[in-house]
Amino acid sequence: MLNRSNELNAWDRDHFFHPSTHMGAHARGETPTRVISGGEGVRITDSTGKTSIDAFAGLYCVNVGYGRQEIAEAIAEQAKQLAYYHAYVGHGTEASITLSKMIIDRAPEGMSRVYFGLSGSDANETNIKLIWYYNNVLGRPEKKKIISRWRGYHGSGVMTGSLTGLELFHNAFDLPRAPILHTEAPYYFRRADRSMSEEQFSQHCADKLEEMILAEGPETVAAFIGEPILGTGGIVPPPAQYWQKIQEVLKKYDVLLVADEVVTGFGRLGTMFGSDHYGIKPDLITIAKGLTSAYAPLSGVIVADKVWDVLVSGSDALGAIGHGWTYSAHPICTAAGVANLELIDKLDLVRNAGETGRYFREQLAQALADHPIVGEVRGDGLMAAVEFVADKDDRVFFDAADKVGPRIATALAERGVIGRAMPQGDILGFAPPLCLTREEVDIVVKATADAVESVARAL
Ligand code: PLP
Repeated sequence: MLNRSNELNAWDRDHFFHPSTHMGAHARGETPTRVISGGEGVRITDSTGKTSIDAFAGLYCVNVGYGRQEIAEAIAEQAKQLAYYHAYVGHGTEASITLSKMIIDRAPEGMSRVYFGLSGSDANETNIKLIWYYNNVLGRPEKKKIISRWRGYHGSGVMTGSLTGLELFHNAFDLPRAPILHTEAPYYFRRADRSMSEEQFSQHCADKLEEMILAEGPETVAAFIGEPILGTGGIVPPPAQYWQKIQEVLKKYDVLLVADEVVTGFGRLGTMFGSDHYGIKPDLITIAKGLTSAYAPLSGVIVADKVWDVLVSGSDALGAIGHGWTYSAHPICTAAGVANLELIDKLDLVRNAGETGRYFREQLAQALADHPIVGEVRGDGLMAAVEFVADKDDRVFFDAADKVGPRIATALAERGVIGRAMPQGDILGFAPPLCLTREEVDIVVKATADAVESVARAL
C-alpha cells in the first residue's frame, strides 16, 4: 500500500466524488487524502502506518470496534452459502428472519415488525411513506405534514434531507420540501432566554410544537420525528422533561412519533434503545449504524402494532404494499447483523457504554469545563461534545469563519485521536466504539485538552 500512495492520491483527486467534502478544495489538493487501511479495536491505521484512536467510531457506527472476526466470518459464510436472494412476496433467509426476531426481542414494548433497508436515509424515506399510507388507509388524506426539529439529522435524500434541520444539507438543493416543517431544537445551551430552567425550556419547546400544530391544523399534521438525543446537530441531550412534554402534545392531536435511533439504537446510551433511556414511546423507530456496527450496510424501520394493524388493513383493501428495494434484507447484511447483536450481548457492550460513557464525560468535564473557550461539556452514554465560545460569561459564539471547531479537531487528529467537528457551530463531538476502555478514555481526554489549549493559544 505504502508504495502506491502517490498513485492513489492522484486517482482520488481526479475520480473519487467524496460525500460531505469541499469538492473544489479536495480536487485541488488543498485538503489531505487519508487512505485508511486497517482497524483493530478502537484504532484505525492509515496507509502511512499512522494509528489513531477513532473516538467517533467512523460516523458513530462501528459500535463493536474494528477487526471483529466473528462478524467477518458470518459475512463470509453467508456469501459462500447464499450471497443474495430477495425478500419480495414473502421470501426470506435464515439470517433476515432471525435478525428481525432478535431486533423485536430488544426493542421497546409494543413494536412487532421490522422493515429492512440499507441506510438511515432510506429507512426514514420508508417512514415517511408508511406515515402517508397509514393516514390514507385511515381515510385522512389531508393528514400528511411531518414536523421535524431544527438541527435534527435524518439523512440527505430529497425527503430525508428535508427532515434534516441543518443549513448545510438544504443550501442550494431546494430543500426542505413540503410537507415538512421544523420546530424549535431542544438545545438548552443555545436557548434565547437564558433565565429559563431546563424544565421551562422543555415546556417552551412543547408550546412551540403545539402552536405549530394548531396553526397548521391538527387534521393536517401526521407525525413528529426526533432523535432521542440530537446527534449531528451538536450532540445535545434533551433538557429535563422534554420527551414527556412533547409526547403529551403529540397524543393530544393524534400525531405519530418517529424515534430516529440510527445513532442511539443498540446500546450507545447505555440502554438498548434511546427510547428506553428517555421514556419515549414511539410508533416507528429508525435503525441503522449500530445494527451491523457498519460491517455491512443495513437499516430498518421498527413498526409498532398500532401502525402495523392499519398497514395490514391497507393491503387487505389495496393489495401488496408497493414499497421495497432490491437489497431489502440482503442476506450478507442481515448475517452481519445477527453476528453483531450476538457480540454486543457477549461482550456486555451496552453496560460498558453506560459505565465508560459516564467516566468519559466526567473526565472530559474535569479537564475542560473551566477552560476559557469551553462553553459547555455535555453528552449522555458514549456520546459527548465540547462546545467552544469566544466569551464564556456572555455566551458569545465564535465567528464561523474562524473555524475554531475544525481547527481543534485537526489538532486532535495530529495527537492521534479522531473526534468530529460537528457541522453547525464550534462543537467537537465524540461517539467512540462501545468497547472503549478507561485507559483509552484517558488518552482521548489528555489529547483533547492539549488540542484545545494549542488552538486557544493561537487565537
Ligand atoms: N438518522 C440519524 C439520526 C443519523 O445520524 C443519520 C446519519 O448520520 C441518518 C439518519 C442517515 O443515515 P445514513 O447516513 O445511513 O443515510
